[in-house]
Amino acid sequence: MIEIKSCSRSELAQLMADLGQPAFRAKQVFQWLHRGVASFDEMSNLPKSLREQLKERCVLTVPQVERKQVSKLDGTIKYLWRLADGNCVESVLMRYQHGNTVCVSCEVGCLMGCAFCASTLGGLVRRLTAGEILDQVIFVQKESGQTISNIVMMGIGEPLDNFDNVMRFLELVNDPEGVNIGMRHISLSTCGLVDKIDKLAEHRLQLTLSVSLHAPDDETRTRLMPVNRAVGVDRLFETCRRYFETTGRRISYEYAMVDGVNDNDWQADLLAKRLRGVPGHVNLIPLNDVRESPLKPSRRVRQFQQRLEQQGVTVTVRRRLGSDIDASCGQLRRKTLGIQE
Ligand code: SAH
Repeated sequence: MIEIKSCSRSELAQLMADLGQPAFRAKQVFQWLHRGVASFDEMSNLPKSLREQLKERCVLTVPQVERKQVSKLDGTIKYLWRLADGNCVESVLMRYQHGNTVCVSCEVGCLMGCAFCASTLGGLVRRLTAGEILDQVIFVQKESGQTISNIVMMGIGEPLDNFDNVMRFLELVNDPEGVNIGMRHISLSTCGLVDKIDKLAEHRLQLTLSVSLHAPDDETRTRLMPVNRAVGVDRLFETCRRYFETTGRRISYEYAMVDGVNDNDWQADLLAKRLRGVPGHVNLIPLNDVRESPLKPSRRVRQFQQRLEQQGVTVTVRRRLGSDIDASCGQLRRKTLGIQE
């Protein structure tokens, strides 16, 4: 069976040719798929015989809303989707002045083991297909009635650990006949898999790469992010510099502020020093308190910000949205499924 929503336009064209259909059918099917039809029968401008053939050969993924939480504070909506095999992933719709942003997941669970993150507590269950990542955008749009203008790949999972499917997703979501989100409106966040950052650079996409840094020194970064053990902060920054040189795109460094761990003045100074060679921008994130974790939110966000700014670093502090609805990734999935350590 073909998972049809993961098909590129050229693959759909091939499928239509195999079924003896004229080429324009590929575009029609593509448009229906990306509008979020719940069945092939809804594709009303296709001949019935073709719909039957598609049913025989293809799987149409239709995620179900397992839970939906709406923030009373800011209208943020969090969806927990149940996938065809029973697994669940989360997406979040955030309303900003510059438009609606959806945060999507790319894996069920995560392999990376970051100490502060709820998504990784149960390990990696499986990677999502391109169609399953795309479905989150399509069905958030359909379910909420809101047009999505921006995408952040900051949900559950590590995008660069699911490289091929994520690349395919980007191509699909960027298609003018589909959801049509421009690359400059997409951010991809990684824990820093250096080989894959190099591989991504080769594609020269205009998206924004966010690197989850969280500490400028190896001791602290390895403590927070086991993935750092193999790479190290020096090599990560070398890779980021190469990425900038190849793509011309500035990197955004994510830095979740943890009380007494990565919020010291010397760490701000070291971070400023490291950024001197690599044009980039720092996004400080007030840590979301994850119940299972002993790490607590920093009380020094402003001081840390000022210290960086005094040294010429561009810094923003992330606004917290949806803090009344289990805002940090992975929390809703864990709560609903009753996953316990
Ligand atoms: N795997 C990718 C993307 C998923 S997480 C990555 O590591 O970048 C998206 C962002 O949320 C990352 O920067 C991640 O480090 C951060 N994050 C995870 N748990 C958090 C928490 N409890 N508080 C604040 N930020 C958190």
